[in-house]
Amino acid sequence: MTKFVVDAMLGRVALWLRLTGNDTYYSPDAEDEKLLTLAQEENRVLLTSDGDLHQRALKQELESRLLRGEVDDKVAEVFETYDIKPRVDTSTARCSKCNGSLRVLQGEEKREIKDKVYAQTYDHYDVFWLCEDCGSVYFQGGYWKNVVKYMERIDQLMNEEKRMMG
Ligand SMILES: [Zn+2]
Repeated sequence: MTKFVVDAMLGRVALWLRLTGNDTYYSPDAEDEKLLTLAQEENRVLLTSDGDLHQRALKQELESRLLRGEVDDKVAEVFETYDIKPRVDTSTARCSKCNGSLRVLQGEEKREIKDKVYAQTYDHYDVFWLCEDCGSVYFQGGYWKNVVKYMERIDQLMNEEKRMMG
């Protein structure tokens, strides 16, 4: 599976890569040098909107992709290029904040996160996901609809792109 390192301007792209289960390094304040080092040492594909950084990466014979345009088009382009399905599978999703692995907590197991969410939320949901690295807790709340809807939009864009190319 392709691993990514994403520049500071592409936070939304990083978010959707993580949610769809792709190992993605992203930090809003990482220096270019650090991104190049990660691409090299951890064999990550660099995704950048910075033409200079892209050129530097290519000179070092790193795999780099220059992304321009609207954010939705960028997400669709990356998914298309690296054969990523526009679907958030909660069994493989990564923490959108830190790229950590998520552990599912079901039934009684949810006690573990009781002090991390509002009482109402705790009572309402039966399944939670806990990030093993940063301790963030996820559940399929109101925003989940938007996650599904956004992935449908990306799917649509990918299909349009295919039509234009084919
Ligand atoms: Zn995390």
